[in-house]
Amino acid sequence: MRFDILTIFTEYFDVLRYSLLGKAIDGGKFSVNIVDIREYSKDKHKKTDDAPYGGGAGMVMTPDPIVSAIEAVDPDHEALRIYMSPRGRTLNQSKVESLAKKDRILILCGDYEGIDERVIDLCIDEEMSIGDYVLTGGELPALVLVNCVARYVDGVLGCGESTSEESFSDGLLEYPQYTRPETYRGLSVPDVLLKGNHHDINRWRKEKSVEITMQRRPDLMAKTDVRSYLPQKPKKRRK
Ligand code: SAM
Repeated sequence: MRFDILTIFTEYFDVLRYSLLGKAIDGGKFSVNIVDIREYSKDKHKKTDDAPYGGGAGMVMTPDPIVSAIEAVDPDHEALRIYMSPRGRTLNQSKVESLAKKDRILILCGDYEGIDERVIDLCIDEEMSIGDYVLTGGELPALVLVNCVARYVDGVLGCGESTSEESFSDGLLEYPQYTRPETYRGLSVPDVLLKGNHHDINRWRKEKSVEITMQRRPDLMAKTDVRSYLPQKPKKRRK
């Protein structure tokens, strides 16, 4: 998979060198091409913004440097082109999983008061938000998108890690996790996790998932078929 990220603040993406994602990029599991929109500005000072028509606060990113950058990076429109925007559809886990199946994703980061609408009309496939709040620019949202999508790319997570048993993977929040020591500041690990009975452990985890989701995110419960998570009644024996 390849990501092209278009931005006027390329330094934000230095963090991609670190941690699991850095290793995965070095190992060729996926690639990230950071494109400086300023390089496509025809202005002698490499300006990429101007005052909004109709007045109002702040500056708006001008269309030509962005459109020229998109056309240079993705001339045949092979990538899914996403503009990070508070107006977009809010990212969630099922969207992440479907994005991870794409070969190429181009991500446009807005800054200032955003971008000229004609860029969206001419070049963008989807607008995507990371939540109902406003950040100063699209760089952190783009990093969020790359991070959560890349986790689903083959070989990115270490073999000990999995996307299949974590929050949202089955529509529920994750159960509580514990590691050594067995007792910490008077709090003990639940007995069931120490006994090694995998059937009981799985049942306990599912029950906890349901309990936590019901307490914290009842909206998720409405979308999940919870019958399989609830303790089953023992079957009656035939006489
Ligand atoms: N004037 C815009 C509005 O009211 O919707 C906000 C512009 S914001 C200050 C600058 C840029 O940050 C946006 O163009 C977008 O790329 C990015 N951005 C801000 N909040 C975001 C969010 N919640 N999700 C995705 N991108 C966001």
